[in-house]
Amino acid sequence: MSFASGRHFLQIPGPTNVPDQVLRAMSAPTIDHRGPQFAAMVPPLLEALKPVFGTTGDVVLYPSSGTGAWEAALVNTLSPGDRVLCFETGHFATLWQAMARDLGLEVDFVPGDWRHPVDPAEVSARLTPETKAVLVVHNETSTGVTSDIAAVRRAMGDHPALLMVDTVSSLGSIDYRHDEWGVDVTVSCSQKGLMLPPGLGLTAVSAKALAASGGSRRSYWAWQPIIEANKRGAFPYTPPTNLLYGLREALHMLHSEGLPEVYARHARHAAATRAAVQGWGLELLCLDPSAYSNTLTAILVPGADHVREVILDRFDMSLGAGLGKVAGEVFRIGHLGHFNDLSLAGTLSGVQMGLQIAGVPVKDGVSAALSLLAEA
Ligand code: PLP
Repeated sequence: MSFASGRHFLQIPGPTNVPDQVLRAMSAPTIDHRGPQFAAMVPPLLEALKPVFGTTGDVVLYPSSGTGAWEAALVNTLSPGDRVLCFETGHFATLWQAMARDLGLEVDFVPGDWRHPVDPAEVSARLTPETKAVLVVHNETSTGVTSDIAAVRRAMGDHPALLMVDTVSSLGSIDYRHDEWGVDVTVSCSQKGLMLPPGLGLTAVSAKALAASGGSRRSYWAWQPIIEANKRGAFPYTPPTNLLYGLREALHMLHSEGLPEVYARHARHAAATRAAVQGWGLELLCLDPSAYSNTLTAILVPGADHVREVILDRFDMSLGAGLGKVAGEVFRIGHLGHFNDLSLAGTLSGVQMGLQIAGVPVKDGVSAALSLLAEA
C-alpha cells in the first residue's frame, strides 16, 4: 500500500494507540528536571500511578522498556546462584527465565503447552526450601492466557520466596492488586494499557522486596536511590520528562473513566472478540475459559502470517504475529488501551474480510460480536 487515507489501525497487543490528548500533553516543552515545576509534578504523578498497581507502597519508573524493569526486579532482590521458579506460559515467560539464567540465577522452569495459565497446584508442588522467588507472567501477550495471581500467592502458603509478576500487557486493563494479593514486585511498562509510547518501565515494590536487596551488582537499576530522589521530586538521572507528561494525562484519563469501568470495558471487548472467533469457526489458542485474556485474543489459523499481510495491505491494520513456539500458527488481535466499541467493530470487520480474502473458509462472526456490543 503506497498511500493510506484515514488512520492506521494499530491492533497489535502493544504498543497500543496513543490518545490524541496524551500526544498533545507530550508535545509541551521539556522543562528543567532539577527545577521547581518538575519537582512539583513528580509526587502527584506517582500517587496517581499507585492505584493502577493496587498499591500504597513504592513505585519506581525507569526510562526503559519492560525488559529493563524485568532486570531491575531480579538484580535488586536476588544474588547469583539463587533459585527461582518460573512457568512456561509462553514467549515472555520464556524470555524472563532466560534473563534470570543470564544473570546467574538457578532457574526451575516448569514446562507448559502455551495454552494454559500457571497451575497453582504446580506452584506448591515445585517450591523447594531453596526457592528465593517465583516469577509469573500475569497476562501472556504471546498466547492470550491470564494467570490467577491471587491463587498463585495462596499456593505459596507461608513460603518466604518473593512473588514477582509481569503485568506488561495487563496493567491498566485487567484488575490487578499488588498489595491485596501479596505480590512483592510487579513489573510493567508504558506502551500497552497505559496508552503511552514505549519508553517507560514501571515497577511496584513491596517492603519485603526492598529489604531483600540481594547481592547482584546493580547501579542504574538500583531502586533505593530512585525512591529517595523521588521523595524530593527528582530522579538520579535525566528523566524522560515528556513521557511523564504523557503518563500524567493517561492516568487522568484512566481515573476519569474509573478503573473498574476500564476493566469492565476490556472484559466486554474481549468477550465480543471471542464471539466473533466462534462465529468464524476458528480456534482460540487459550484452552481454559477461566483464563481468557481481556486484552488480546490469539487465534489459530493456517497461514496466519499471510492473513496478517493481507489485512495490512488491504485494510492498513496491523495485527500481532505469532511469537516463539507459535510463530506462523496464530495471529493476535489486541483490544486494549485507547479502544471503544467502534474501534472493535472496525477491527473485527477488517479481520473477517482479510480472512475471506486470504481464502480461509470462515462464516460471519462480526454480527455476533456486534449483537453483544449492542446489548450492553
Ligand atoms: N513481558 C510481556 C508480557 C510482554 O508482552 C513484553 C513485550 O511485549 C515484555 C515483557 C517485554 O517488554 P518490552 O518489549 O517493553 O521490553
